[in-house]
Amino acid sequence: MPKTAERKRNLHEEKSLVEKLIPFGILAAAIVTSFTAYSEKQKAALKERDGNSCQFPGEHDCGGKLIIHQIMPPKYAKKFEINPDFAANGITICGNALKIVYPDVVNKTPEEIQQAMRTRAIKLNKRQPYWNDKKDRAMTAMVTQNTQAAEAEGWTFPEKKIRAPKDMPEAASK
Ligand SMILES: [Zn+2]
Repeated sequence: MPKTAERKRNLHEEKSLVEKLIPFGILAAAIVTSFTAYSEKQKAALKERDGNSCQFPGEHDCGGKLIIHQIMPPKYAKKFEINPDFAANGITICGNALKIVYPDVVNKTPEEIQQAMRTRAIKLNKRQPYWNDKKDRAMTAMVTQNTQAAEAEGWTFPEKKIRAPKDMPEAASK
């Protein structure tokens, strides 16, 4: 099989895998070319959508600073050529909930954290989730609900100006 065809097929298989992780409609909206973080405006909008409160769907000792967590981590999304900065990938959670998602770096020595980073890199290369993904589905359901409810009240997710790559003139003209 020619290399390009093989690559295309692999990419297709990887995308099918991602479709199992996030609903297709959301996925379709997510496939664009820019891979940067949420803008400050977008973060503020997501917090507002989530009622400025922790939305983590699991039992936990709720506390700490509220952050916008990306359910599918940007590094992982990039492996699948997906832009992680769509509204249904962001959820407002507290610092304690974040520790549940990334237990590999909580209360660890610098050496243990280094090791955890190496393990993450290995898992990422194998396209395996390197975080605790047990609540990902529930978080996605939560934000999908929040987004629909907010949109019914006139909420919109601010667009981010996407800088198109230079070799894609058709995208740049948009
Ligand atoms: Zn919490």
